[in-house]
Amino acid sequence: MPYGYTGNILHVDLSSKKHWAEHPPENFYRTYWGGRAIGLYYMLKEMKPHTDPLSPDNLLIFASSVITGTPAPAIPRYTVCAKSPLTGAQGEAEAGGWWGPELKKAGFDAIIIKGSSPTPVYLYIKDGQVEIKDATHLWGKDTGITQKIIKNELADDKIRIAQIGPAGENLVRFANIVNELKHFNGRNGLGAVMGSKKLKAIAVRGTKPVELYNKERVSQVTKEITKRIMNNPLSRDLRELGTPAVVRGFYEAGCLPSYNWTTGYFKEGENLTAETYNKTILKGTKGCFACPIRCKRVVEINEPEFKVDPSYGGAEYETIVSLGSLCGISDLKYIAKANELCNKYTMDTISTGMVIAFAMQCYQKGILTKEDTEGMELTFGNKEAMLKMIEKIAHREFGLGALLARGSYIAAQKIGKGATNFIHQVKGQEIPMHDPRLKTGVGLQYALSDYGADHMKAAHDPFFKDKDSVGIKEMKSLGTLEPVSPTDMGEKKVALFKLLDIYWTVFDILGVCDFGYVPRSVGTMEELLEIIRSTTGWRTTWFELMRVGERSINMARIFNLREGFTSKDDTLPEVFYHNFKGGPLNGQGAINKEDFKKALRLRYQLMGWNADTGIPIPAKLIELGLDWLIDEVK
Ligand code: SF4
Repeated sequence: MPYGYTGNILHVDLSSKKHWAEHPPENFYRTYWGGRAIGLYYMLKEMKPHTDPLSPDNLLIFASSVITGTPAPAIPRYTVCAKSPLTGAQGEAEAGGWWGPELKKAGFDAIIIKGSSPTPVYLYIKDGQVEIKDATHLWGKDTGITQKIIKNELADDKIRIAQIGPAGENLVRFANIVNELKHFNGRNGLGAVMGSKKLKAIAVRGTKPVELYNKERVSQVTKEITKRIMNNPLSRDLRELGTPAVVRGFYEAGCLPSYNWTTGYFKEGENLTAETYNKTILKGTKGCFACPIRCKRVVEINEPEFKVDPSYGGAEYETIVSLGSLCGISDLKYIAKANELCNKYTMDTISTGMVIAFAMQCYQKGILTKEDTEGMELTFGNKEAMLKMIEKIAHREFGLGALLARGSYIAAQKIGKGATNFIHQVKGQEIPMHDPRLKTGVGLQYALSDYGADHMKAAHDPFFKDKDSVGIKEMKSLGTLEPVSPTDMGEKKVALFKLLDIYWTVFDILGVCDFGYVPRSVGTMEELLEIIRSTTGWRTTWFELMRVGERSINMARIFNLREGFTSKDDTLPEVFYHNFKGGPLNGQGAINKEDFKKALRLRYQLMGWNADTGIPIPAKLIELGLDWLIDEVK
């Protein structure tokens, strides 16, 4: 019998309203393990190249892993994959919460959805039973109301619901999917794919716990990690300050993305720090399935004229900056409101902040005028205008709202008049709020990420900066023996980030939270391996796991090659090749373009890809068991 996984993959065709279960053999699971690897397997096998991402032929895949549902700490995540309507590349996003483990308890490892329904529907999956239910009455409703209605009509408060809000229905190209109102499959616009299929939600409920190979051992390792989580400063800070803890360091150093990346210096940065957040708007913290860290913020504002609903969680670091300093806004109350709106409409907060900051800069430059904004003064710092723009984008209202809903890359081309000078994206996806001038490894990952710029593609440079850093002390078995400076762009940095990319890709595949294990937290590599072994019964090693990660990176690379992406798309926005302006870093920091190009060439070679084209060489595919993809690279 299988341990850790159910052996059942659900297929749903929304056009014909048919569904069936597939039962792949053990070797399938031992090759792909879960998440993006399972997603890419079906996307490469079953989707034709150049499929329109918003057509019925796009696949929408929800995948857990062979260890999802294990009670070990910080392994709650599941992945959604599809061709992205924002980038046109492989799309992928992981979310925490409870939905992934519940899917496993309901009897499935993954759901492969194709086709599209003529009218809104939702899926109800309970203990192996599947129903496609009418959702006409839910269409147009925001996520809080939808969740209440579904739980009421199915008369079960324990149901876990992954769903889209109006932004997904309206095909906003950076719409998210959310579970439990505050755990997001963000970026990439996978919510729009769900909207294009007229699929409002997937409600899951299961009563059968995941079978573990060695329950006692899982419980023993869980206890050991949990004890450390409660005492170690790394995990304690995550609980007490959350991701907003990062604001202070960036603001004081002068690298807090501000005014659409024109400067890293934000005079009012103190207003955005975790300390101010905790004093003013924080109501409490929450966590995910089986995770004692509880790093998630909960915010409530209950003033007569200004309310923020705690059901939608609270802004994380990325949101505080993208809808704060990036738009010239320093009022946490308004950022909290913006976060609530994005969450109830299911819009990615990084891209939302980025498109609004871009529009603000265009307005200040006279490229957009009051005619475009319906009379609104869309200037940096105008917090009321920021909230209004969120409404307009989510509902695709008036010209500018509908235009920005397509993402900054397309919007800038349509606006013309030099607007492309003010966008900052990779493969069409807006960059996150970490400046690669001070973390060059993050920059390499922005450029190479198969799903567009992303800050969760590898652990960040500072964890490897000196001999006392967690990455150097705790990850020696990965070969990280020597520290490398965060601003270094030499061979050691490139080699380090090849490993770190694969390492966090393994996390993504298995549904492991990056905040639970080294270098970001206290669970060790050995403990994670022990959890995987005790859950599945497989005598696996980090060698095998790293190959699983590398395999999926090559699969994604080939998916993107088929879609027409080339090495020219592995770039950084122009702004990072220039020095910082203003603040403590004024006149410093520019990344050298030639060094960056050299680093990319070396990285291609280390991956077993052609140094010029970045195309995997056939021998690498054979090594990874991907010989079935060799024709794609010829
Ligand atoms: S560390 Fe935070 S995000 Fe990660 S699983 Fe725990 S509560 Fe969820």
